[in-house]
Amino acid sequence: MARLSADTKADALLLQHRVRVLSANSRGIVCAVIGDTDTYRVRVYRDGGLLVRECTCEHGQVHPVAANCSHVKAVQRIYSPDERTAS
Ligand SMILES: [Zn+2]
Repeated sequence: MARLSADTKADALLLQHRVRVLSANSRGIVCAVIGDTDTYRVRVYRDGGLLVRECTCEHGQVHPVAANCSHVKAVQRIYSPDERTAS
């Protein structure tokens, strides 16, 4: 069976209401994402010119500031930091 792509999984997470926003402002967002086996915490924020993407899942441990898993992708579909406030 073909593994679902991260994009397909991100769609499913949103459609199934498995992304919960914990806090958000113009600089960043923190979400709880209910994954297949656990609930992960995703944080996406702008640090100067860098867009930091953190996730507490296994993939996020390997890529601590630039996670590209389905959890992060799902959050990025509903949120992007305001580039005008970059310091
Ligand atoms: Zn993740």
